[in-house]
Amino acid sequence: MLVAACSVAPASDPKPVSCDATMMGVARTIEVTPRTGPIHALLRDHEVVLTFDDGPEPKRTRAVLDALDKECAKATFFLLGNQANRYPAMAREISARGHSIGSHTWSHANLVNLNDTAAKDQVQRGQDAVNAALSSVDKRSVMFRFPYVATTPDLSRIVRDMDLLEVGVTADGADWTRISPEEAVDLIFQKLALSGDKGVVLLHDPFDRSDARTALLLSRLKQEGYRIVALENTNPGR
Ligand SMILES: [Zn+2]
Repeated sequence: MLVAACSVAPASDPKPVSCDATMMGVARTIEVTPRTGPIHALLRDHEVVLTFDDGPEPKRTRAVLDALDKECAKATFFLLGNQANRYPAMAREISARGHSIGSHTWSHANLVNLNDTAAKDQVQRGQDAVNAALSSVDKRSVMFRFPYVATTPDLSRIVRDMDLLEVGVTADGADWTRISPEEAVDLIFQKLALSGDKGVVLLHDPFDRSDARTALLLSRLKQEGYRIVALENTNPGR
């Protein structure tokens, strides 16, 4: 059952989640800055960072947040600017419920197909919309993910020059395809195994059955002795 967001509670006072020792929780937090470098290299054996792209979408994103709460798990959400612009309260709810936020361009353009000016505009508009949605909770995003994880050395430099940290992907659940949640989670574990049993996991929050995939992933991670690492934005807005 979905729990309605309380529209009158200040975002700095999120709904408390009751966590106990049986839940995965978060093993540690990495404070990221635009100069942090590749996240994968900072992870230890059996550590994962959970990431969700392409939201927010109120109903499905909230269902993913509820699934994460059941294990007291924290993730990073890479929001599209146009979605954050449409659903700013949902962007704030993600933050208020203890997750970190990055941007993912304005409209999911494949930046490899654009000239530098147009690519920079996509990144900036996405970033501005996400920061506008978060401004009332005094949060700003410093993390960015390329749509389709498609980049070039020049594009990566442009993003770095915009004071954003590019966050890559180690284990992609390919959940935009028609594969089942079980197959998506199997794929993630195959990719983690090929990457030293650690890495940054990618799923999407606004898709059909995103919550089921999230719950299944958490259950397998727990079963196989993985620990969750959270990424925390430093707060350059302060
Ligand atoms: Zn995407």
